[in-house]
Amino acid sequence: MIFCIKHKIMITKIIAEEKIQSVKKKIEESAEIVIVSHLSPDGDAVGSSLALAHFLTFLEKKVAVVVPNAYPDSLKWMPGAGQIINHQEKQAFAEGVIAGADLLFALDFNTLSRVGNLAASVGDSAAYKVMVDHHPDPGHFADLIVSYPQITSTAEMIFRLICRMGYFTDINKECAECIYTGMMTDTGAFTFNSNNPEMYNIISELIKKGINKDKIYNSVYNNFTADRFHLMGYALNEKMKIYPEYGTALISLSLGELNRYHYKTGDTEGFVNLPLSIEGIVFSVFIKEDTDKIKMSFRSRGTFPVNEVASSHFGGGGHLNAAGGESHISLAETVEKFESILPLYKETLMSDK
Ligand code: 5GP
Ligand code: MN
Repeated sequence: MIFCIKHKIMITKIIAEEKIQSVKKKIEESAEIVIVSHLSPDGDAVGSSLALAHFLTFLEKKVAVVVPNAYPDSLKWMPGAGQIINHQEKQAFAEGVIAGADLLFALDFNTLSRVGNLAASVGDSAAYKVMVDHHPDPGHFADLIVSYPQITSTAEMIFRLICRMGYFTDINKECAECIYTGMMTDTGAFTFNSNNPEMYNIISELIKKGINKDKIYNSVYNNFTADRFHLMGYALNEKMKIYPEYGTALISLSLGELNRYHYKTGDTEGFVNLPLSIEGIVFSVFIKEDTDKIKMSFRSRGTFPVNEVASSHFGGGGHLNAAGGESHISLAETVEKFESILPLYKETLMSDK
């Protein structure tokens, strides 16, 4: 069914009408709204959160955005980013804001484990909780679950939500920039999960709102430090392992190696995708040592389900072609464990090569 509101935007009614109306009612009834997103916030986490914040501010609601930890410098240009409350930096303040809210939006995550040290605050909050997310298998911590894995970014869901609530005209340029950033980053600048034609109807509307999509691309992707490129060179040259018999590549970096290149949050963003440009590689893993854990990122081309690997072996999850997980053994042991599970997937990996 094609949905054509009075502004003639051609988008299908994917989100159920009763969910749209419930969200609208809850927003109308609330006075203090908090938006929370996931650990190591990416472009979709920050983009969807700020887009919703711009919209709610327009409605003259009191609204705050809280994230569990730092996000990359390449997202700091985003309108409203300066107001984001980082729980790691302002713990008591962030928890106070969450405790004081009567409506909480959980954006771009679907289990409390994804907000790290904010899990208790979010779980215990008396606020009415609305999850807006696009990952498979949503958990049950929210009162209202708006979960559509077929939509490729939470930012796109925010656009759809605002339009369906009847507020398309009230999306301003700043809000549009944030929506576009989330849509762009969750599709690798429209290079994967990006074949839904409606996505381009939405982008067309965002451009009419005044966004400069080329400038946004440059701000996000052409704005790194030389240190990052030195680290990338080192990672590719010295640390990339190829397993040709599994169509798999692995890059691991220790804290010592990261520090040698003056690592800052966001510097390794995208490293996991690089080996997928190698012919015959369908599965790539990036393993990074952190102070309290080992963080793993998984990517694939084709039908190999990396979320299955992440959830079965590394306490994580995600999408078919992009997932993440954690490990609480040493970096070397994590690499060994990864290598030991590869044979389990040999057949599926080979069929995708
Ligand atoms: P990234 O590799 O960019 O950190 O994450 C890729 C995808 O996997 C994202 O959709 C993200 O939400 C998901 N993801 C990353 N880390 C985790 C994790 O530890 N647990 C779960 N459930 N999902 C994760
Ligand atoms: Mn997302």
